[in-house]
Amino acid sequence: MDEEIWLPLIDTELCTGCGDCIVTCPTNALELVGSTAVLIEPTACNYCAVCETICPVDAIALPYQIVLESDL
Ligand code: SF4
Ligand code: SF4
Repeated sequence: MDEEIWLPLIDTELCTGCGDCIVTCPTNALELVGSTAVLIEPTACNYCAVCETICPVDAIALPYQIVLESDL
């Protein structure tokens, strides 16, 4: 069974550390480390894409939707 987990990718070069994604993330999966957002709780992420939508500088990308076979 192929089971790949893809999570939000944060471009540290683009991230300004504004914190918008951190306060908006419904699962508290993100946190500011230094001046960059980091996915500190990857297992909490529900792939809602709110962070990708809200980031003003497009520093977060969700490359693939996860579909596990057990969910089909
Ligand atoms: S995709 Fe949703 S749950 Fe995951 S880090 Fe972004 S806002 Fe949080
Ligand atoms: S919203 Fe974008 S720029 Fe702001 S902290 Fe999150 S990833 Fe960085």
